[in-house]
Amino acid sequence: MEYGNDFFKKILDSLYDSVYFCDKERKITYWNKAAEKLTGYTANEITGTHCWDQKLVHTNIKGENLCGGATCPAVRAMKEKTLVEEEIYLRHKDGHRIPVLTRISPIYDEGGNVTGAVEIFSDNSAKMSAFAQIEKLEKLAFIDELTGIGNRRYTEIKIGAKLAETERYAWAREFGLLFMDIDRFKQVNDVYGHDTGDGVLKMVAKTLASNLRSDDFIGRWGGEEFVAVITDTDNKSLYGIAEKLRALVSQSSFTTDRGSVSATISAGATVAKRGETMEQLIKRADRLMYESKSSGRNFVTIG
Ligand code: GH3
Ligand code: MG
Ligand code: MG
Repeated sequence: MEYGNDFFKKILDSLYDSVYFCDKERKITYWNKAAEKLTGYTANEITGTHCWDQKLVHTNIKGENLCGGATCPAVRAMKEKTLVEEEIYLRHKDGHRIPVLTRISPIYDEGGNVTGAVEIFSDNSAKMSAFAQIEKLEKLAFIDELTGIGNRRYTEIKIGAKLAETERYAWAREFGLLFMDIDRFKQVNDVYGHDTGDGVLKMVAKTLASNLRSDDFIGRWGGEEFVAVITDTDNKSLYGIAEKLRALVSQSSFTTDRGSVSATISAGATVAKRGETMEQLIKRADRLMYESKSSGRNFVTIG
């Protein structure tokens, strides 16, 4: 049985994926039905043009045009004689950008010379938006919206994981907990208003988050209370870290049109005991924080 061009065209046109062929100069010689549907351009409008003719405007996620030369996936496929797979963006005829997953292979003649390339591309938008959705959900579930640091749920998960680790593994190093509360925060709200209060909260969260090691964790426990989980520590180093954070917060300020507003924190610091519950650990740190309040605030108590 003879398989003529029509036969292959029928197959290609019935594919769900978009397909095009181009020659060595990247002139598009074939454009299937799915490609018409995805991009809005008919085969008549596209065949005979080049992939760099600024109709489809391939870009990467940063919006950088790929058609210039070395960055063009078709050029790379032909030059390196390899399959190139990339997530890129095309311009729809109407102007909007569509994310596509593209796979380009070189085409050879009988002598093994590259004569062009075939590109198969499919709509990647479902996948993209699913990713975006997951990211959004994760954020909603674990990130405090105002400050951008972990929320209470996330903080509890982190503490729980650390407690489980110390209980289960003999090699697990001690970890410490800092319970921190902004001093006289109600006054900030009363004097400067709630928006400035929010600004101060963000400022404190940023100061705390930027001055911990990447292994450590900081979360917003609620209102103007923060909890830090400090890994691999003992009483002495934990106290040093708490003191450093206390001093850094007291030196930070939030700028408003009525001048800058500063804040201080009182902290309770304690090293977790093997086998204790989260409630016991938090309670102890909270009680130590209150001792710091009684000692005049802007203070660290370790116990
Ligand atoms: P202390 O030194 O004893 O901690 O005094 P304080 O004023 O900080 O303590 P108090 O618990 O009486 O007040 C906490 C205040 O924090 C009350 C509440 O209005 C404010 N607050 C809690 N969450 C937020 C928030 O998200 N934004 C703003 N602006 N204020 C908040
Ligand atoms: Mg409080
Ligand atoms: Mg307070």
